[in-house]
Amino acid sequence: LRGVVALDGPSGTGKSTVARRLASALGAAYLDTGAMYRAITLAALRVRAAVSDAEAVAHAARSAELVMGTDPVHPTVTLAGEGVEHDIRGPAVTGSVSAVSAIPAVRELLVDEQRRLIRQAVKQSGGIVVEGRDIGTVVAPEAGLKVYLTASAHARAQRRTAQDAAAGRGTDLERTHADVRRRDDLDSGRAVSPLRMADDSVELDTTELDVAGALTQLHKLVEQ
Ligand code: C5P
Repeated sequence: LRGVVALDGPSGTGKSTVARRLASALGAAYLDTGAMYRAITLAALRVRAAVSDAEAVAHAARSAELVMGTDPVHPTVTLAGEGVEHDIRGPAVTGSVSAVSAIPAVRELLVDEQRRLIRQAVKQSGGIVVEGRDIGTVVAPEAGLKVYLTASAHARAQRRTAQDAAAGRGTDLERTHADVRRRDDLDSGRAVSPLRMADDSVELDTTELDVAGALTQLHKLVEQ
C-alpha cells in the first residue's frame, strides 16, 4: 500500500478488526485513533479530572505520555511506558470517552500526533490504515482511499456484546445497544469534528457482512 487508507464510522461496524487485518495483508502500518481518545480518557480518570472540566482534562492530556505502536499484528497503547490496551476497553473509559473527545484542546493535541504518526509510517512502511471518526474529514483529507463503514444499530450492539464476551467482560445486549446509540448521538452531535461521512468517501454497509466479506470488499476498493 502507498499512502493512507481512512476507515471511519460509528462503533460496532467491525472497523477495528477489518482495519488491522487489512493493514497486515497490505504490509502497512495501522493506527487506531479511538484507542488514543480512550487512553487520554484513562489518563484523565486516573488523575481524577472531572470529564466535564475541559481545562483539567486538557491538562491531563498534555501531561499523559501516550505512545502508540503501529504494527497491525501487535498494536500497542502505552501511558508512561505502561501497556493500557486492556484498561482502555473497560466501562469507565467507554462511558466517558465521548465527553473527552468533544473537548477541542484534546482533539487538537491528538490530531497533531495522529498526523505525525501517519507521516512517519508512510515514510517507513509506505502506507498506513487509519481508523476513527474524522480521518477522512479532518486528520487525513488527502487519503487515497476513504471508506465509511456502517451497520444497523442492532448489528453493532450485537458485535460489541460478542467482543465484550470474548474479552471476559460482562455483557448485556440491551445496555450495549443503549450505549452504542448514546455514543452515536454524542459523536455525531458534537460541535468539533462530528462523526460524518467525507464527501469523497465510499460507504460500506457491513450489516450483512462477516469479517471476511468486509475484507473482500475493502481489498477490491484498495485495488481500484
Ligand atoms: O473507536 P472507538 O469506539 O474505540 O472510539 C472511542 C471514542 O473515541 C468514540 O466514541 C469517539 O467519541 C472518539 N473518537 C473520536 N475521533 C476519532 C476516534 C474516536 O472522537 N477519530
